[in-house]
Amino acid sequence: MTEIETGNSAENLPYALERIEEIFDKSGSRRPVLFLDYDGTLTPIVSDPDEAILSDKARNVVSKLSKQITVAVISGRDRKDIQSKINLDSLIYAGSHGFDISGPDGMEMQYEPGRKTLPALDEAEKRLNEKLQDVEGAWVERKKFAIAVHYRNVADKKVEVVKNAVLEELEVYRELKKGSGKKILELKPDIDWDKGKALNWLMEELKLDANEYIPIFIGDDITDEDALQAVKDKGIGIMVGSHDQKTAATYRLKNTEEAIEFLDRLQKRLLK
Ligand SMILES: [Mg+2]
Repeated sequence: MTEIETGNSAENLPYALERIEEIFDKSGSRRPVLFLDYDGTLTPIVSDPDEAILSDKARNVVSKLSKQITVAVISGRDRKDIQSKINLDSLIYAGSHGFDISGPDGMEMQYEPGRKTLPALDEAEKRLNEKLQDVEGAWVERKKFAIAVHYRNVADKKVEVVKNAVLEELEVYRELKKGSGKKILELKPDIDWDKGKALNWLMEELKLDANEYIPIFIGDDITDEDALQAVKDKGIGIMVGSHDQKTAATYRLKNTEEAIEFLDRLQKRLLK
């Protein structure tokens, strides 16, 4: 992840809702391209990720916007998951932090270095399932571009077995690296990749030249900082809520409700 050396606390940023005209002035003759995070940006954070349901109001405004400008959602979720949650076929969906992309008219693309790690992920998944089948409580969760091994429900004396199994696979498959979360060990592609790189790659692949298009990114989390950094000089970065680190955003919105309100005003302003 990018180190944010300079930046502000989100609390000190001006409100995007009050600066719509300023944002349009900055855009000049360039057409906005909208990049959106999902969880915490379009939907409030909930404890069960399956319950992060998009409101009708939000779906409606995003749908309208996607008929006026290019709208892409970049999420850490699997692409099919995010696609079924939003359920609009006029958007670009960049799942797995942008490794896996689909768009209108059946457009599909995968970041090549990421795609090359799929056989290793398939094999490691199979081997982990075999190795851990007798460890009670262990759960090997396959995501498209990662394997999450959960050990929250594993007895303390067996946790070491789980950890060793993961480390063994990482030894075998050098194209994978270790990630971790709360009572989770993760195997993921050993590629220098983040939402900022995904945003830049998408702009390039979609031939959205920086002279003609201005990227607007809206996100809420620390993993969104890479994308906020990527648009800092060439576009508009907007932070929803705040996190405990400095942000590269230029504007802020209080919560997801304000984010939807902002999209609504942007949509109406684009009609002018
Ligand atoms: Mg988020």
